[in-house]
Order: sequence, then C-alpha cells, then structure tokens
Amino acid sequence: MIVQSEELVSQIRPRLEEVEERIARACARAHRNRQEVTVVAVTKTFPAEVVRAAYHLGLRHFGENYIQEFQAKRPEIGELEGAVFRFIGHLQSNKSAIASKLFDVVETVDDAKLARRLDAAGKVLDVFLEVKLGDEETKSGVTPDELSSLIETVGGCRNLRLQGLMVIPPWSEDRETSRPYFAKLYELAAKHSLPHLSMGMSNDFEAAIEEGATHVRVGTALFGRRTKKA
Ligand SMILES: *Cc1c(COP(=O)(O)O)cnc(C)c1O
Repeated sequence: MIVQSEELVSQIRPRLEEVEERIARACARAHRNRQEVTVVAVTKTFPAEVVRAAYHLGLRHFGENYIQEFQAKRPEIGELEGAVFRFIGHLQSNKSAIASKLFDVVETVDDAKLARRLDAAGKVLDVFLEVKLGDEETKSGVTPDELSSLIETVGGCRNLRLQGLMVIPPWSEDRETSRPYFAKLYELAAKHSLPHLSMGMSNDFEAAIEEGATHVRVGTALFGRRTKKA
C-alpha cells in the first residue's frame, strides 16, 4: 500500500487547480477539447513523495530530466498503476539502455545513433523527436532540415513508436516569445503527419495549447521553484 503525504497533497492541489483553469481558458480560446491536452508533471529534483502526491491528485504523466536522479528515486515511487514516465532531458546515447528500462517514453530523441541504441535496448518505447528551432549553438535537437532523415531512421527501428515532436524554445521572460516556435513545430508535425506535440512549460503553456500542443510539461507551476539540480 502506497501512502502519500497529506501535506504535500494539500500543497499541490490548489496549484493543480490553477493550472487546470489556465488550460481550460487556453482550450476555450483555441476551440479545443480539454481532453486533447495531457499534463506532463515535471518532477525532476523533487523526491518520490511528490510524484506520489501528484499521482494521488490524478496526474499520470511524469517528466524527468536526469537518469541518475530518477534511477535513485524510482524504487521509492513504488508501482503506480497507469503512471507514464517520460524522459525529457538530454540523453547521451551511452545511457540508452538504462533510459529504456526506466522510462515509457523518451521525448528527446535527436539523432540516428541515439535512436538506434534505444531500439537495440529491446524494449518497445514511445518516442518524440526533439527539434531545434532556435539558433543557439549549444541546444540539442534535430534541425528541421535533418528531420525527414531522422524520421526515416526511427521508422526503421522496430522497437520505437514515433509519436510526435518536442521543442524547448529559448528561455524568455515574455511568454509570447515562444509562440512562433510552437507554431513552427505544429507546421513540421503536420507536414510529417505526426499526431503529438510536446511543447509549453509553466510560463508559456497557454500559447503552446493555442498553437496545438498535445502535451504540456509543467513543473514550477505545480510544485514550486526547484532549489537543487540533481
Ligand atoms: C524542467 C523542464 C520543464 C518544466 O519547466 P517549468 O518551467 O518548471 O514548468 C519542462 N520541459 C523541460 C524539457 C524541462 O527541462
């Protein structure tokens, strides 16, 4: 029997309600159904109890960024029926096997080598391709020019099921700055007939929903500021 902290549950509940209201308003503006948008609760740096409290409140999708951190806390989370664990951080191909074991979805596939190694791990995985739309040199992600070729590679991987595209726009105070990136990702997904779009975080998920997001990755708005990096 898994117990969750009542205190954590009561801290997260009003935050979740606020997130839900923001989502509802964005869906209304975009004439979309609330059911078309999945909240991915980003629990990186937070302990296992936070994952359990969020699950208790009905959240089922959890995003994590750091392999080692999640590997350490995974046993403490316990078995949560229907929970979907999604890797949303940068994945080095030498961590493919462990990532494939720990996660149900990898949202950040960005090159052929990583795709092949995830495939070789032998477990069926849902994947998203992370697209690089800004021109920051350091950002990971496949460029729009290379996207077709990566889609083809993933198509040839028997264990990978391609779900859609993911983007992390350059960080900005102004939530509207992300909108053109979201619109561009929508266009690319439509062009390649991919059904899902993972885009939008705590400060800009309304714009993402208005531009077609099916998965919004929300950390701070649900759990507060992260104080440590794993
Ligand atoms: C940390 C993180 C998030 C959550 O960001 P918040 O601003 O806390 O909502 C979403 N997506 C990715 C890829 C992240 O690394």
